[in-house]
Amino acid sequence: MGICPHCKNRPHEITIEPITLNGGPREKWDGLIYSCPSCHFVLSVGFDPLAIKTQMLDRIEEMFRKPFVVVERSNSVRVCDVKV
Ligand SMILES: [Zn+2]
Repeated sequence: MGICPHCKNRPHEITIEPITLNGGPREKWDGLIYSCPSCHFVLSVGFDPLAIKTQMLDRIEEMFRKPFVVVERSNSVRVCDVKV
């Protein structure tokens, strides 16, 4: 098991806290801070995998709500609604 580089304790769990990852005016993502529960030293920061999964599922659901374009073999194009 690893040790905290700051307080040298061996943590049996890690504290996680939400944070916004700011990559610019239009680039913001949900992130997580991983810190030592003893001294609160920040061990790591990363993307929130559950937030990414939720956002991806929301986008997929949104895609299926939009009209879906079907190209038929006769090269004619028709637009239909997709039932989920
Ligand atoms: Zn520590």
